[in-house]
Amino acid sequence: MVRFSGLKPPYKKVPPKWLPAYEAHIRTVEGQVAIVAAWVLLITVIFYQFSHELRLAHRPDLWLTELFFRIPVLLSTSLTLLSHYTGKPLCQSRYLLRAMGLSVMVMILGLFLIHYNGRTADTYQIINGMVISFFGVAILSVRGSKEWWLMFALPLTVFALVTSAQGLALSELLPFMFDPLVMMVIGIVTSEALRQLRAGEFLARQQLREQATTDQLTGLLNRRAMHTLLEQEHSRAQRYGTTHSLILGDLDRFKRVNDRYGHDIGDTVLKEAAKRLSSHMRAQDVLCRWGGEEILILLPETDLAGAMHVAEKVRRSLADEPMLAGEHSIPQTISLGVTSCHGDDDIENAIKRADDALYKAKDGGRNRTEAIAPP
Ligand code: GH3
Ligand code: MG
Ligand code: MG
Repeated sequence: MVRFSGLKPPYKKVPPKWLPAYEAHIRTVEGQVAIVAAWVLLITVIFYQFSHELRLAHRPDLWLTELFFRIPVLLSTSLTLLSHYTGKPLCQSRYLLRAMGLSVMVMILGLFLIHYNGRTADTYQIINGMVISFFGVAILSVRGSKEWWLMFALPLTVFALVTSAQGLALSELLPFMFDPLVMMVIGIVTSEALRQLRAGEFLARQQLREQATTDQLTGLLNRRAMHTLLEQEHSRAQRYGTTHSLILGDLDRFKRVNDRYGHDIGDTVLKEAAKRLSSHMRAQDVLCRWGGEEILILLPETDLAGAMHVAEKVRRSLADEPMLAGEHSIPQTISLGVTSCHGDDDIENAIKRADDALYKAKDGGRNRTEAIAPP
């Protein structure tokens, strides 16, 4: 018997913590789709305008009228291409895409109405155009079925309004509307499927990235990720001449916790310590698990006095209250070494100074903060 229990529900929802990154990703996709859509639309619209004589030899009087309805598309596509190739974005690609989608709709409705004269070949031709365009509008909406109003509700409302204003009976048009309606539904389903695919890819990539940069036990940033950030901060400091600080911390007598309560309780204490320390960080500060029970904090744009202040807060966050692990209440302190760095300092030297300061703190009796200023 075939079993489907292994299949996960297909709906992909991006968790709130990744929404800003997802939004940035979608904007990039929208930018790319907008360029392709603009070229395709521009070329086909120009082609249709100039093949007018071939297609509609019996109605040369309509050349200008047709051009009139194509102008919004020409404008919106030109704006999109200008916005891209001059490197000066006029607005977000999202709005350019919508503008293109809506201008296509205006064009198709206009052309339909000027050519509509009962069940003639012209009408079929225009309806065909409509089919293609509604599908195009659907594909244009990178954000999936969320844009249903753009793909479905708006075109139908406008269509109903225009036909009734023209005194055309909807019932008469219904046979022609069958294909566009089907294509609109396909458009919504397709764009939603594409959105799901993109979200799935994004989530998989983000999970891999997170696994590569976080420590499994504490959920803090790992040493490798911290190295990258330290390098970034150092080159920023070199360029702009700013000062940043480092705090290196090491839990006091942690071996005893393991020896007395066991490794699992030791792990719980580590997790609890990480949680308390995290809650004392400002948004711009970076805290990582530097080693076994060692942490390193990077404080951008912070001088030595500022860093001492943060370090003391961090120290007290552990010292003030014992850790609760299982039924045990375990007093746990931390010793901290602080230093600050200027542009011409190198990373290894700065970490060595923080380490020396930490050694001083351990030597001075633990549960204390020591600082060493840069040379
Ligand atoms: P000191 O005050 O001098 O730092 O004393 P200490 O006992 O903390 O000494 P040290 O820093 O040398 O020892 C670190 C201990 O932390 C040794 C190791 O067993 C323990 N440790 C390191 N990583 C983990 C971990 O992931 N889980 C647990 N439970 N223990 C760990
Ligand atoms: Mg240690
Ligand atoms: Mg220790």
